[in-house]
Amino acid sequence: MSELNEILAHNREFVASKAYEAFEAGKYPERKLAILSCMDTRMVELLPAALGLRNGDVKMIKSAGALVMHPWGAVMRSLLVAVFELGVEEIMVVAHFDCGMRGLNAPEFLEKAREQGIPDERIDTLRNAGIDLNAWLTGFDDVETSVRHTVNTIRNHPLMPKHIAVHGLVIDPHTGGLSLVEEDVNEAQESAA
Ligand SMILES: [Zn+2]
Repeated sequence: MSELNEILAHNREFVASKAYEAFEAGKYPERKLAILSCMDTRMVELLPAALGLRNGDVKMIKSAGALVMHPWGAVMRSLLVAVFELGVEEIMVVAHFDCGMRGLNAPEFLEKAREQGIPDERIDTLRNAGIDLNAWLTGFDDVETSVRHTVNTIRNHPLMPKHIAVHGLVIDPHTGGLSLVEEDVNEAQESAA
């Protein structure tokens, strides 16, 4: 059953009743903050509520597992756009416990693809073309190690300025409680201290 019609009906009512007025904000993040988090359903509302964030406060980027898969991919580009075009000065990677990317396993993933009609020959063709599906479809074993790795990838990106603070955190998807994994102190904070 498609959700589309229900969403379109809700949307007409949302606009007609001017419910949007409660969400009006500018495109530049008021808190000068970007957050990279996971697409987990439990965090759709929990994460902004638990962090005290409102519309207009942050640039929110989501990827499965809060991962930067590639230094020249869309997630990294979004973070760089946030810094250079939108005034972001601080980045937080917020992964979460009980993440679906923990233990993601390529053979099981590809078996599900087969069950949904992706033929073996196509998978073989991709492999023969040099695409490393096993590496691409592998998640992480330990969420804190993964967050540290992602923070380092962002901090050490050749286009990321050194004065941008990049922190790493893990959120509890039930309580919203945060654990700090990596705290960065940027140059502005250091000189103010
Ligand atoms: Zn997740």
